[in-house]
Amino acid sequence: MIPSKFDYYSPATLQEALSLLSEYGDDAKVLAGGQSLVSLLKLRLASPRCLVDLGSIGNLSYIHEDGADNLLIGAMTRYAEIAESKLIAEKCPLLRQTALVVGDVQVRNRGTLGGSLAHADPAGDMPAAILALKADLKATGPKRDRWIKSEDFFLGMYATALEANEILTEVRVPVLNDRQSAYLKAARRPSDFAMVGIAVCLKRAKNGTCEDVGLGVTGITDKPYRPQHVEAKLRGQKLDPAAIGAVAQSITEGIDVNGNIHASPEFRAHLAGVYLSRAIQAAIGS
Ligand SMILES: Cc1cc2nc3c(=O)[nH]c(=O)nc-3n(C[C@H](O)[C@H](O)[C@H](O)COP(=O)(O)OP(=O)(O)OC[C@H]3O[C@@H](n4cnc5c(N)ncnc54)[C@H](O)[C@@H]3O)c2cc1C
Repeated sequence: MIPSKFDYYSPATLQEALSLLSEYGDDAKVLAGGQSLVSLLKLRLASPRCLVDLGSIGNLSYIHEDGADNLLIGAMTRYAEIAESKLIAEKCPLLRQTALVVGDVQVRNRGTLGGSLAHADPAGDMPAAILALKADLKATGPKRDRWIKSEDFFLGMYATALEANEILTEVRVPVLNDRQSAYLKAARRPSDFAMVGIAVCLKRAKNGTCEDVGLGVTGITDKPYRPQHVEAKLRGQKLDPAAIGAVAQSITEGIDVNGNIHASPEFRAHLAGVYLSRAIQAAIGS
């Protein structure tokens, strides 16, 4: 189908982009990699009056350290850049592992970290990793920047804590140092969205028990989520298969699990428990 008519802007600066958002309000949409938005436009599931393309703003794509044990990643950084970055591979391999299982090569060459998070697909891969990492997201508005915790960012299906006049500009993730991580995704085919995706980032105490853990879950319900009740149960636990298995079952406790032709709610809930166990074991290398 052909999208409905819209004004197209390609601002050279963030300030210009923000002015356009303020001018058009809810009638404007930001365009990043276009891997989700272009389909929505063509299906007329989105019909903005104005499209603000971030592609010409030079300084939104970068990966560097902040000197305080964090990586700062510009919102327009593409999946392929994350997958190829030596810094990411060394300091936060969870992001590399996650980027590599998003869609196919074409999607990874165009799709951006910021677009993935702002789009808030309930089965998006990157949101799970960002939640497990307990990352922070920078929203830039016309007057100020504000930092949003990842656990407060995803509000519902395709809904986030971003205001209509804000742009997601940066993601701050802690470097992993002595923490171990893994992202595992159950999908029907390699380039498909997750039926279930589980990200784990954990630190083990000297005696091998779990000292601290962050989890991110995607594909299960209307939004990616961080099961803090499971994190609490894992803290202090021995990380052997029996102990992990006992805790893993509660990952969908209190969650309204989705069902569709690919997976019933019961099957999806079962998968979530199995994939949590596997992801923890993959993280600790057992
Ligand atoms: C064939 C195919 C397979 C795919 N498979 C997967 C998969 O396996 N896993 C997965 O996670 N995803 C998958 N995707 C989706 C892909 O990850 C998208 O790239 C991502 O969802 C959106 O990122 P984008 O940069 O393309 O954003 P766009 O499509 O340009 O934008 C998406 C939305 O986010 C908003 N937005 C974008 N950037 C910003 C910003 N900086 N600030 C505020 N709002 C912003 C836009 O206004 C729009 O509403 C697939 C897509 C395709 C086409």
